[in-house]
Amino acid sequence: MAERFETESRKLLGRLRDAMAGEDAGQARLNKITNLIATSMGCEVCSIYLFRDEDTLELCATEGLNAAAVHETRMKLGEGLVGRVAKRRRVINTPDAPQAPGFRFMPETGEEIYSSFLGVPVQRLGETLGVLVVQSKTAREFSADEIYALEVVAMVLAEMTELGAFVGEGAAMSARHSQPVMMRGTVGQEGVAEGHVWLHEPRVVVSNLIADDPVRETERLTEAVDQLRVSVDQMMSMAMGDKDQQQVLEAYRMFANSKGWMRRMVEDIKSGLSAEAAVEKEQSLARDRMGQAADSYLRERLSDLDDLSNRLLRILTGQGADTGAEMPRNPILVARNIGPAELLEYGRSLKGIVLEGGSVGSHAAIVARALAIPLIVHAGRITHEALNGDQILVDGEQGIVHLRPDDAVAAAFRDKIAMQAAAQERYASLRDLPAQARCGATISLHMNAGLMADLPSLGSSGAEGVGLFRTELQFLVRNQMPKRSELSALYSRVLDAAGGKRVAFRTLDIGSDKVLPYMKPNDEPNPAMGWRAIRVGLDKPGVMRMQLQALIRAANGRPLTIMFPFVAQMEEFELAHAEMQKTLAREDRLGHVLPEKVEIGTMLETPSLAFAPRKFFESVDFLSVGGNDLKQFFFAADRENERVRRRYDTLNVSFLTFLEQIVSRCQDTDTDLSFCGEDAGRPVEALCFAALGFRSLSMRPASIGPVKSLIRRCNLDEVRRVIEVSRARGDMSVRPAVMDYVRAQHQS
Ligand code: PEP
Ligand code: MG
Repeated sequence: MAERFETESRKLLGRLRDAMAGEDAGQARLNKITNLIATSMGCEVCSIYLFRDEDTLELCATEGLNAAAVHETRMKLGEGLVGRVAKRRRVINTPDAPQAPGFRFMPETGEEIYSSFLGVPVQRLGETLGVLVVQSKTAREFSADEIYALEVVAMVLAEMTELGAFVGEGAAMSARHSQPVMMRGTVGQEGVAEGHVWLHEPRVVVSNLIADDPVRETERLTEAVDQLRVSVDQMMSMAMGDKDQQQVLEAYRMFANSKGWMRRMVEDIKSGLSAEAAVEKEQSLARDRMGQAADSYLRERLSDLDDLSNRLLRILTGQGADTGAEMPRNPILVARNIGPAELLEYGRSLKGIVLEGGSVGSHAAIVARALAIPLIVHAGRITHEALNGDQILVDGEQGIVHLRPDDAVAAAFRDKIAMQAAAQERYASLRDLPAQARCGATISLHMNAGLMADLPSLGSSGAEGVGLFRTELQFLVRNQMPKRSELSALYSRVLDAAGGKRVAFRTLDIGSDKVLPYMKPNDEPNPAMGWRAIRVGLDKPGVMRMQLQALIRAANGRPLTIMFPFVAQMEEFELAHAEMQKTLAREDRLGHVLPEKVEIGTMLETPSLAFAPRKFFESVDFLSVGGNDLKQFFFAADRENERVRRRYDTLNVSFLTFLEQIVSRCQDTDTDLSFCGEDAGRPVEALCFAALGFRSLSMRPASIGPVKSLIRRCNLDEVRRVIEVSRARGDMSVRPAVMDYVRAQHQS
């Protein structure tokens, strides 16, 4: 970069800082800035456009254009040259704007006399906040140095916008992070909650953007990068022996030593930015490229760079990963995404969870359900909007999140919470009554569990037992493989707490999205269909044997129920069954008391198992349909991919017909059958399963009341007929017909 230009750019940033330090508020500041930029760049026009809402840009300040157009001129994302800069996040530099593709004439601005146009996006960490434009009468193309200078200024503007520098009297701009925001997402776990935002990854706040001592800033940057290198080396030595982790760290090391990265940041500093702002500028560019990169390898590397930049920012600002912020009262976790193990670490301290990504079928969602914490996934741009401590309402019935709600919304919400409490009371009154339909058929309702803390719900929900105990949660919460004695003690406490009610312990179901922190992650192209659950158990029998021993010892003479996950063919069950028999014999030899009765069943989670030989159905003690997995394989629709997951209704005729065949095979062979996927806890789905012949359902405890209440109001023979009529009519899903029937029962 030309020496002269560095000085010019530094001067401009210096003036910008002075403008910011002045007494002016909001609009006056913006006006001063446009004036400064126009003068410094020798242009007649400088304008700032900021987003008014998600897809509308507004002219917020101008030097040179018609002042009356300020806060009046608006354009949609993609509209005109300004809209195009914002949409494509790309610079537009043209000597002849009216002839440029996409130009839109806006008479109120008086801009038709200006020929050259340079527009750069105002971006902060991959988020576009607006567009900064300079224009001049002389037809010329702006130089690379000028573009660079305007980009640096745009970056500073973005940070100032984020910090609320343009808010105030007459600015007609609202402070970011201060207005009420409502976002729609997808319900991952029902329930309502009111509390305060707790950001899982708090953002690093950079308040010193401009610095006029580049030598000092370069020193600060160099020291911080040195520190970063040392910490990467330390991580490297800790990861010895773990090839995958080492590979990732190698990439980190490569970036930390990258001369190009360092050179660009030093250039940014020379142009007048502080060390922190320089890191953020490069991070922003990398995020932008990350969003555009088609190649997954490149995306991953850019995401490594993103992580590294965050670490560097933390070193520079002294804001550790732990920012020292105190968790607010009634914390509601807000994150881009979170894994099941991390969620378990928070445990029941959370009142609600709102994720920008995530999916209803993920195990994090299952953990949220196990903990009965309302969860919304795919909630817009919540992590960009929310600040630690903000008031937040989670409506896990409608899938709506209210951030910083106004009083009327908060009051209506509290009414809703009160109504829900009343409904819970109604359900509680059914607790000791059977789930007996009007036709006389009784369905036994069990609960799903995975934590010791779930067991008290056995009494309060009225569940007959635990139909699915997900043992992997115990493995996920630790940093190392639990010991046999620890597991045995835990299972024993579970059985004690169950007080004689049946508990179906499902053996370890890891793999897919459930990666144990202390096990080498497998780089599989499609982990949901990869080496998981019983496949791992049979290939590496040590852990399965240890778990079976722990279960036998925990039973200590009491009845024991074991369920194997993800069995896809008869042989897998036979091998697992044989393993259990061997373990029983070994335990006997070692002098341990054997269970008085052992039931051995499997989950039915792959369509293949429904077509297994009759002998398989005869040899299992019971089958439990794992609808979450079964449905994803039946429809070939990833349970974690929101885009495809919701396309297929559980009450789709094809799926129900398939379930009906499973019921019929079990009836023929007198095999006990239940359904333990999440759908069993949805009242209308549960009603249909019961009508198809399922006599046992297992669900999260909070669903037992609503499911029981609906079953008791309906006649299963009638529901069955409704399903048959709907199927005969050629309906794709029986839901509309069954819903009509259900509504009629509510009215009667
Ligand atoms: C299922 O697949 O339906 C099931 C109950 O198992 P998980 O959700 O733990 O995979
Ligand atoms: Mg499953």
